[in-house]
Amino acid sequence: MHELPKLDNLCASITDKLNSGVLLLDLDLKVVMWNQFLDVHANRKLAQVSGESIFTVFPELPQRWFERKVAGVVQLDTPSFCSWEQRHHLFKLPHTRPITTGSEYMAQNCTFLPIKQNNEIRHICILIEDVTDVCYYQTMLKATMEDLALSNRIDGLTQIYNRKHWEECLSQEFARARRYKHDLSLIMFDLDHFKSLNDTYGHQGGDQVLIELAKNITSLLRLGDIFGRYGGEEFAIILPETNLEGAAELAERLRTSINNMNIEFQDKIIKTSVSIGVAQLTFDDKRYEDLITTTDLALYQAKTLGRNQFCIAEGNSTSINL
Ligand code: GH3
Ligand code: MG
Ligand code: MG
Repeated sequence: MHELPKLDNLCASITDKLNSGVLLLDLDLKVVMWNQFLDVHANRKLAQVSGESIFTVFPELPQRWFERKVAGVVQLDTPSFCSWEQRHHLFKLPHTRPITTGSEYMAQNCTFLPIKQNNEIRHICILIEDVTDVCYYQTMLKATMEDLALSNRIDGLTQIYNRKHWEECLSQEFARARRYKHDLSLIMFDLDHFKSLNDTYGHQGGDQVLIELAKNITSLLRLGDIFGRYGGEEFAIILPETNLEGAAELAERLRTSINNMNIEFQDKIIKTSVSIGVAQLTFDDKRYEDLITTTDLALYQAKTLGRNQFCIAEGNSTSINL
């Protein structure tokens, strides 16, 4: 019959095989034991730290938080967890991954366990799990989801809001303005003779005009204005807290600015103009689509009257003195 190994030795050789840190502290928070994982990652042997205060061994530990955490575990006689999402790491242990994680330290999930001897808690065991990979992939996933959400709202060519998102914004602004009886105006504009511009300079030339125009308009708007690409060469701007007079002033500024643009394309200068419709929210507008229809009609009128101008929606025009 062969001899069984001593239980302490057996446990030690098992914990040394673990790919997680195992740290045993007494209730004065002095190191009693740690496993080989910590030898390697903290770059110190147990013999060098045994009997030392944990705050001497790891000076970066948040002392008050740590003491309270341990006190809770002892008083309630229950484990307590600290995830990398709350604190990226407790112990400054360098990670060994060839990946960029945003931190040079190992992301950790730490579990504090009360350890009893003779029915009395004498020690606290802290399990330190290396979750650098989880942290890395979760962070990547979050960034990708954010990119995706953004690209769902942004028009690929002009980098302004696409129609779907713009309409969602209008629906919200419309409801808010009606509820609180606030001003709300709308500007819609369409490039003049864009078809022939495409015919003259090619589709790429046309695209360049749309890109430059969106940039120019964005620079002229206030932070709260909501600018979107409504269709191919038609754009729309929601103007919260803006009355018809303010909207008309802006429309004229946009018209002039676009008319003065010199768009460079393949050693040529492209000139363009827009026709603009302007409308203000009235009691007749029951749905946000009604406001779009009114504004679009004004835009159509600007086209009919000869283009490169703005028109105010019928029914709105008597309310201001232009
Ligand atoms: P009007 O002054 O009456 O608005 O004349 P228009 O030629 O601008 O109007 P029309 O609606 O006949 O033509 C719009 C053109 O816009 C046709 C379409 O090919 C072009 N277009 C739509 N989207 C894009 C785009 O993303 N890039 C380019 N280059 N052209 C586009
Ligand atoms: Mg057009
Ligand atoms: Mg059009």
